[in-house]
Amino acid sequence: MQEEITENPVLESLERPKVAALDEVLGKPFKVLDDGFIRVIDYMGSDESIVQAARVSYGKGTKKVHEDRGLIRYLMRHHHTTPFEMCEIKFHVRVPMDCWRQWIRHRMANVNEYSTRYSVAIDSAQTTGAGEWRIQASGNRQGSAGFAESEEGKSLTEKERYLQTLAREVYDERLKSGIAREQARKDLPLSTYTEAYWKVDLHNLLHFLYLRMDSHAQYEIRRYAEIMGHEIVAKWCPAAWEAFLDYRVNSSQFTRLEMEVLTAITQGDSGKAVELGKSFNWLNKDTGEPKKNRERLEFEDKLSNMGLKAPW
Ligand SMILES: Cc1cc2nc3c(=O)[nH]c(=O)nc-3n(C[C@H](O)[C@H](O)[C@H](O)COP(=O)(O)OP(=O)(O)OC[C@H]3O[C@@H](n4cnc5c(N)ncnc54)[C@H](O)[C@@H]3O)c2cc1C
Repeated sequence: MQEEITENPVLESLERPKVAALDEVLGKPFKVLDDGFIRVIDYMGSDESIVQAARVSYGKGTKKVHEDRGLIRYLMRHHHTTPFEMCEIKFHVRVPMDCWRQWIRHRMANVNEYSTRYSVAIDSAQTTGAGEWRIQASGNRQGSAGFAESEEGKSLTEKERYLQTLAREVYDERLKSGIAREQARKDLPLSTYTEAYWKVDLHNLLHFLYLRMDSHAQYEIRRYAEIMGHEIVAKWCPAAWEAFLDYRVNSSQFTRLEMEVLTAITQGDSGKAVELGKSFNWLNKDTGEPKKNRERLEFEDKLSNMGLKAPW
């Protein structure tokens, strides 16, 4: 990191970076949900490309593998993100439309989607097994918690099949009557699968994975993200993937407020911790009882992950 850039750098001859582990799965579909998939169409770069780009910034350093890994970890820890943009990957994905609607919000990617104006809609819709109907969570308006009873699940699955079949039949009838594809499609359900080519750089892919592998993300998109991460990025850029897991996914960030309470806890001063909690409006000012407060709950989760109890 400290070396100076040589005045007359010798330009080395280059070979295109190849990652044997990723080449082995190139084009092979990874199954997701009941009829979805992810396959890698092409890629550019590897862990070495990240290091190579960083060295342009920092000057030529040693090329030992363990030092490359160290540099990648340093870059990840310090949010030096541009070297990760030097790697690109192109996926072919097949995703239910409701899931795609969330996916497409990630703007830092290049997309071409299957056109149902131009072609007949893919004749496949995501189905839900009797045991897979999730109950609305009470504490989290965007989430689910637990599953419906099996009898109810069976009935919901039967009705889903009925609805999907009917919607498809009506769609096919419209097409037969000569109705334009762009209009005939309007009543197809959101469970209908779509396909797309999705090209993204590693920095933005990791951002996508950070948000969509998270437990707050919807189960369906989480399945895609987990497979992309654990099955594909792990093979493609193993050092970057390891650093991402260590410094993003499995790490925790503390706010100024949390740091103050944490400091009081580590100093064994629970009285001060409680006073701080009151001043942050996390606790009732008179009784010291916990108030309904999302920030306090998030902090308590972090404490629990470290094996610590809340001081109130
Ligand atoms: C659990 C969860 C729940 C969500 N709930 C909702 C919801 O209820 N309603 C809803 O509408 N969306 C929701 N979203 C979508 C969310 O708000 C983002 O649109 C989505 O996650 C894409 O993130 P992004 O913008 O960071 O990614 P990208 O679009 O890929 O952008 C990557 C980064 O580039 C930068 N960037 C991109 N475009 C711009 C720009 N125009 N200006 C400035 N900077 C830019 C930002 O730094 C951004 O973080 C939810 C997402 C998650 C993960």
